[in-house]
Amino acid sequence: MKKIGVLTSGGDAPGMNAAVRAVVRNAIYNDIEVYGVYNGYEGLMEGNIKQMVIGSVGDIIQRGGTILYSARSEKFKTDEGQQQAIEQMKKIGLEGLIVIGGDGSFRGASKLTEKGFPCIGVPGTIDNDISGTDYTIGFDTALNTIVDAVDKIRDTATSHERTYVVEVMGRDAGDLALWAGLANGAESILIPEKTDNFESVVQKLKRGQARGKKHSIIILAEGVGNGVEYGKAIEEATNMETRVTVLGHIQRGGSPSGYDRVLASRLGAKAVDLLIEGKGGRMVGVENNVVVHHDIHEVLAKKHQVNMNMYNLSNQLSI
Ligand code: ADP
Repeated sequence: MKKIGVLTSGGDAPGMNAAVRAVVRNAIYNDIEVYGVYNGYEGLMEGNIKQMVIGSVGDIIQRGGTILYSARSEKFKTDEGQQQAIEQMKKIGLEGLIVIGGDGSFRGASKLTEKGFPCIGVPGTIDNDISGTDYTIGFDTALNTIVDAVDKIRDTATSHERTYVVEVMGRDAGDLALWAGLANGAESILIPEKTDNFESVVQKLKRGQARGKKHSIIILAEGVGNGVEYGKAIEEATNMETRVTVLGHIQRGGSPSGYDRVLASRLGAKAVDLLIEGKGGRMVGVENNVVVHHDIHEVLAKKHQVNMNMYNLSNQLSI
């Protein structure tokens, strides 16, 4: 292995830069030339690829977003787009590609691997919705952003005696909502993995109201539904003044947490090690604090599971 490429794809996540840094530095440490692909698969097809040196990734470990930029590309989903990408990489002499992104990006990486071009996936998404890893890069930072925001909302909820619905990201996974709910001591959590509990949320609010409780925080995962609609439904069912906050893209931004920087450094470096060992079609991850890797097809075939013990605990602690 003499030359490899690295790209970031799909939704950006804090810690992607730390992962890019680890890839570049570990490659150079092992005497491998490393090329940055700009704008994800779109840039790969266009040949928007530049060699990176030690200094290219200086002073980025603490920065949110991705210096390689990210993009979504419909054309890359086609056979023709994938062939074009492989031709661009062959032109430069690349022998392997590291893809930092979410499950959509991994589908692309698995297609390239099937066509004979070895790729390694590094899970970078705030949603924590990927199987084969306990955490994805960006989850911890986004969680802390939400915790901070909900603390502030609680101050005003307490002062005004209102119910607050806070809609958080996570796509089809409830992890961000669940962890934030536990960390913020939310009265209720609504996650897509447990869709039958709207009535129990209403009952809990009414019980609280009956014993004089005047404010509540409900964390709603975006995968469950629209925050504004849920706010209306809760207000109608409880007769309590209800406000809605949709946290939106602030959850994607910001300087990565210490945990995300460490995770990104470990996973980015491991991805390079795997290419050196001649392995392709793998995704790196962390399980029980050990860096692991799995077949990327298996990762894509298996649905990520939310921790239902934590969900039950949250209900116990917010009676
Ligand atoms: P994420 O990686 O965060 O899940 P997306 O789902 O938007 O983000 O995927 C990012 C990009 O990966 C897409 O724009 C597309 O170019 C590529 N991609 C997604 N699905 C496939 C697929 N089935 N085959 C090939 N490429 C895909």
